[in-house]
Amino acid sequence: MPRVPASRLFKACYGKYALAAVNVFSMEQVLALFEAGDKTQSPFIVQMTPYARDYATPDMLDNMIKAAYRQFPRALFATHLDHGNEEHCADAIRSGRYSSVMIDASHSPFEENIARTAKVVNLAKKYDVFVEAELGVLSGVEDNISVDERKAKYTDPEECEAFVREAGCNTLAVAVGTSHGAYKFSGGQGLQFDILEDIQRRLPEFPLVLHGGSKVNVQEVHRINEAGGKMNVNAKGVEPEELQRSINYGICKVNIATDMRLLWARVHREYFRDTPDQIDLVVPGKIYIREFVALMEQRFELLGATGQAEHFKKAYG
Ligand SMILES: [Zn+2]
Repeated sequence: MPRVPASRLFKACYGKYALAAVNVFSMEQVLALFEAGDKTQSPFIVQMTPYARDYATPDMLDNMIKAAYRQFPRALFATHLDHGNEEHCADAIRSGRYSSVMIDASHSPFEENIARTAKVVNLAKKYDVFVEAELGVLSGVEDNISVDERKAKYTDPEECEAFVREAGCNTLAVAVGTSHGAYKFSGGQGLQFDILEDIQRRLPEFPLVLHGGSKVNVQEVHRINEAGGKMNVNAKGVEPEELQRSINYGICKVNIATDMRLLWARVHREYFRDTPDQIDLVVPGKIYIREFVALMEQRFELLGATGQAEHFKKAYG
């Protein structure tokens, strides 16, 4: 499988467009993501958390990606480990299956975060793997990790500069007003562009990552609740205009997980509500794939990625 070097992908998109980094857990999601990327010629990142690897097994995930790529050979993508610790990162780096890994030591004190990140960077360099680190603490719930809003804190631009210099990471996830999951978006304060601007001034051309990049469509939440769900209707994601604007400030990778979960829940709840005598998994599965493709097409367009795979291939062969 031709793994596109993450360095090239980030270099090509900086300041122009952002790469959608989509968390996958199942065959339906992998297939749909590749179909959308191939069809719209948008470069993208397939990413897997330790939670997903524990569920589907790393081997199954890797082979699903390979199979999807065989089916959609025009797709341009990189593979990424999302929210790993040292052990997950080492395993992913050595496997040769990942273009990049994220070491999430953001809950450790500053110096410890640097030391933990630097250790992963050291190993990753030997394998030509990119390392994403995180500075600042996002609130919210992602997989089985939950962070109270009171403990969340924005990234400090001054710390960013020292962190990147000392830890040697290749990209940095910043906490600038987004949250994980669909539960903790009470904010309404939006993205903190003054912080982003300050970070960009201190780290020009350095690729930044936005976690919690889902929109959390309120209609979708209502539909889930109308079909028996009990989701928080005040949940709020990132406004599309804010996402687009953030690209000018060096945001190169936008993580998307929650929107795909909401879609999954809505499609399946509605299907089984409307056809209570059915137990067929193929029918709702097909609806999910079709709607996933449509949603990703919108996302790629929003992030300015549509058609960029063709430009990339021309430039890099
Ligand atoms: Zn995240």
